[in-house]
Amino acid sequence: MHPLCNATQPLHCTRCQNAPRLPGQRWCRSCLTQSQRERRAAKRAAQAAVASAGVTQASEQEMPRVTQGDPQAPATAAPNFKQLMTQLENLLREFQQQHG
Ligand SMILES: [Zn+2]
Repeated sequence: MHPLCNATQPLHCTRCQNAPRLPGQRWCRSCLTQSQRERRAAKRAAQAAVASAGVTQASEQEMPRVTQGDPQAPATAAPNFKQLMTQLENLLREFQQQHG
């Protein structure tokens, strides 16, 4: 191990550790260009996610209006069903009383 020799050698890229760094940079040129491409792709993905989120938020704002009636539907359907059953039972009783 010779620290002096290591100090004179050009610093390698911390990403690929294969190519010498660019002056003032931690990565080599290929890694920097690749990171720039990834950043652009990430920006595009983020913009697309924001755009899709804006669309979903708009749709979610309309959803509660439609879904507000859904919880009430089964709650109102059950009493109606019970009322129908009681009405049928009453009709059956009246029918049996008339013909009994
Ligand atoms: Zn590199």
